[in-house]
Formats: sequence, structure tokens, C-alpha cells
Amino acid sequence: MPLDVIIILVGSAFSAFMIWLTYQTNRHIQPKQLFLLFFTEMWERFSFYGMRALLILYMTKELMYEDTDANLMYGAYNALVYLTPLFGGMIADRIFGYRKSIVWGGILMAIGHLVLAIPMSTTFFLGLGFLIIGNGFFKPNISSFLGNFYEKNDKRRDAGYNIFYMGINIGAFLGSAICGYLGQKVSWHLGFGTAGILMVLGLILFLLNQKMLEDKGYAPATVDLKTPIFAGLGLEYLIYIGSFLAVGVAVLFVNRHEITDLLFPILGLAMIVYIIYISVNEEGKSAKEMVWAALSMICISTLFWGFYEQSGGSLNLMAERNVDMTLYGNKLSSAMVNNSINPFYIILLSPLYAKMWYWLDARGLKPSDPIKFAIAFLFLGIGYLVFLFGGKMGLTTGMMPLIMFVLGYFFITCGELFLSPVGLSMVTKLSPAKAVGFMMGAWFFASACGHHLGGWIGSKMAIDDSITSPIDSLPIYMTGCKNIGLISLGGALFMFAASFIIKKWMHEVK
Ligand code: GLU
Ligand code: ASP
Repeated sequence: MPLDVIIILVGSAFSAFMIWLTYQTNRHIQPKQLFLLFFTEMWERFSFYGMRALLILYMTKELMYEDTDANLMYGAYNALVYLTPLFGGMIADRIFGYRKSIVWGGILMAIGHLVLAIPMSTTFFLGLGFLIIGNGFFKPNISSFLGNFYEKNDKRRDAGYNIFYMGINIGAFLGSAICGYLGQKVSWHLGFGTAGILMVLGLILFLLNQKMLEDKGYAPATVDLKTPIFAGLGLEYLIYIGSFLAVGVAVLFVNRHEITDLLFPILGLAMIVYIIYISVNEEGKSAKEMVWAALSMICISTLFWGFYEQSGGSLNLMAERNVDMTLYGNKLSSAMVNNSINPFYIILLSPLYAKMWYWLDARGLKPSDPIKFAIAFLFLGIGYLVFLFGGKMGLTTGMMPLIMFVLGYFFITCGELFLSPVGLSMVTKLSPAKAVGFMMGAWFFASACGHHLGGWIGSKMAIDDSITSPIDSLPIYMTGCKNIGLISLGGALFMFAASFIIKKWMHEVK
């Protein structure tokens, strides 16, 4: 049996064990809805990351795009995937409610994956278009929906989001490992198709358990979805049709990434202005300042994601070209290894982090959210510097030792856990109740900007056709890792300094 398959089997057993353990230790503490949302999101992320593991490799190896274009298109796709949650969040807040948005998003994503499974390269961009719009409806709303099952100062919230984040990563781990292996070693389209099937499974699970969600997540009572307002169609159907039109626009934007380059600064500015407007409309100084605190952390997270998100892009290519993937005489699938180590660490570390937060909290030592962000940057920087040293060790062969690659990801992941689940929880507790969906969208929009930035950074590490030997490509990746590492350390210092102000704006909200 190939070593990849053994790793997948062991990893699946380990994931099942961690799910069981988490459920057993938390079922009397956490709201039961957490587990439904956990599983739904787990399968959705399985499909999302399973497909992402293959994306840039498929573009460069099968569709024959050059590195620069592939990175920029990959950046544009990812940016749009995280841009649409802004609109998905707004539509859920004002029109659809969380449930309908999640179901509609899931359907569109399933269509996207299944289109990618068609063995034709011409439908490739169409598949991406469906994923972009589907994710907009699905991703922010499932994350915000979870917040509905906690009180404002509920001490279980952070731990709940940590568990939820673990579900995300169990999905990401299994998806990257299984689809990465199937796609790279068997057939690209089998990899994409497997992703689609699991998305459908997640959706069915969510639909079958609607009762558990009590009376939450419905469309606001004031909204009339059915009465015809245009061409005999009510608001609900107009949104469905509008989504298909939006798919077309998304296809265009990935293809012509220059448009996306123009779009982001304008939208970013508009978003900041709109959030300030939300804060102005809040009653009382502390409510206003809480929105500013959320806004500051949302903006800062952009840089983190720009660096972090090299993982699916340039690091995926680096893993394929410049990391020695041999283990006990077997050459492992680079897509599988590169994309599954990070979520694997998260599964391993999440329970430890949850314990750490409880422990620190009980002693009044829990760092504030902005300090956690600073620590996140610190670890991120260390991770990239480990890649740099790994590169130095492999200069003569052009191949970084696998162990250094795996170690670098360990630090990056430690950093991620100080920022990403913390951010989800932070957004739901600092935002005014009526704008949580939008603010969650803004959190993901910051990721979108980060992905966009990430595509650009990745394109600076492009290896052109004249470079054929790993000895020549490795130094290009090393320079990239060095720059990212050092700027991240600078980001940590900045955040430590800024934490004094941001903490004041948070007004003791924990
Ligand atoms: N990896 C996490 C997820 O898929 C966070 C991604 C992000 O916020 O950019 O949910
Ligand atoms: N760690 C990422 C997130 O939490 C998953 C990944 O990059 O595979 O979803």
C-alpha cells in the first residue's frame, strides 16, 4: 500500500478519535448546536481545501499557466472567495437569515465542485465562479450563526470557536490529504469530484437537523420574501437568479485579475467608511469604541493572511519543486503534505489551546485580543525564518529537508491559532447585534485583501521557464521567506505597541 494511503488512513482514524474526544469532553459544557455547525462546516471545508490543494498545481501542470499568472489568478480567486462573504453577510442580516443563506451557499458550492469534476478544462473557471459566490453565502453565516448560541459575555464562547475551528481543520486536513492525493496521483477530476460529494454530504446533514436550531437563524420577520416585486418574482427568487448572474461576473474577475486589482482598494476603503458609519450610529462612547477595536484588528489581520496564505500558492509550488518529499524511500504527494500539515497541527493543538485559554482565564492572565494578534505575528515570522534555514541546509541539492518544512509550518500554525479563531469570536462580541453578519463579512474581507496581497507576493517568487534546476529556484523562495519572516516580526512589534489603545477601546469585553 502506498505510504500516502497509509498516512490518509492513520490521519482519518486520528481525526475520528479527536472528534469523539472533543464531543465527550464538551457535550455538557457547550451548546449542542455547536456540534451540528461543526460537522456542517467540517464537510464544507473538506471540499474547499481539498480543491484548493490541487488548484495551483492543476493550473501550472495541466492548464500550463506560467507561475506569475497562476499565482495572480489564484490570488484573485481566493480574494473573491473571501470578498463575497461581505455581501453574503449583509444579505443574511437583512433578508435571508442564516439558515437560508447557508443552504443556498452550500448548493452553489456543490455545483461548483461538480463542475470542476467534469474532465474538461473549459469549464474550469465556471466551477471557480460557483465556488466564489457559494462561499459568500455559506462561510460568514455559519460562523456568525454559532455566535447566536452564546450570551454576550459567555465565557464558553472562545472555547466554542476554538472547537469550531478544529472542525474546520479536520475538514481541511482530510480534504487536502484525500483530494490532494487522488488529484495529484490518480486524476485531477477525481480529486475535484470527491470534494463535491463531501459538500453535498455536509448540506444534507445540515438540512436534516434543522429542528436543533430552535427558532434561530430565520429571515427577519419584517422581510417579505415572496410578494412579487420584479417580473412576477419575489425577493427570494430574485436573489437566486442574481446569484447565477454574479457567478458570471466572478468568472470574468478571475480571468481578468487586473479588474480585481482595481476593485480591492476601492472596496477596502468603502468598507472602512461603512464600519465607521456603523460606529457613529451606535449609542454611547463604549459601543462606538468597541466597533473601532474590531475594525483595527480586522485591518491588521490583512497582513497576516497575505503572508499566511502563501501556503496554497507559492508554498504549494515550493513544496513540489524544492522540498525533499521522500520518506522511507517513498515520494509523498507534495499537495497532500503541504496542505495537510497545517490543519493537522491545528487538530493536535486546538485542545491544548482551549485548555490554555481556560487555565489563563481562571488565573486572570488571559492576554487581550490585540496581544494575541501580536503573538500571532511573532510565530508567523519564526515559521518563515525556519523555512529560510531549511533552505540553507538544502542549498547544495536544491532540496529543503522535509523536517524543516514541517517544523516551519508548526510555528506558522501556532501563530494562526492566536489570530484566526480569536478573530471570529472577537467580531461576534464587539459588533452591534444587528451588524454581526456584516462585520463577519468584513473579517473575511480582510482575508480577501490578504489573499489578494498573497497572490501578488507569490508572483514575486515566480520561477520562470528558464529556471529548470531546483538549485536555482530554491534561492528565490528563500529570499521570499526571509522578507516575509522579517516583516512579520516587525508586525509583532507594531501590534504590541498598538495593543494599549485597542485594549482601551474594548472596554473589558472578554
Ligand atoms: N483557515 C480558516 C478557514 O478556512 C480561516 C481562513 C481565513 O479566515 O482566511 O476558516
Ligand atoms: N488552517 C486553515 C483554516 O483554519 C486551513 C488550511 O489552510 O488548510 O481553515
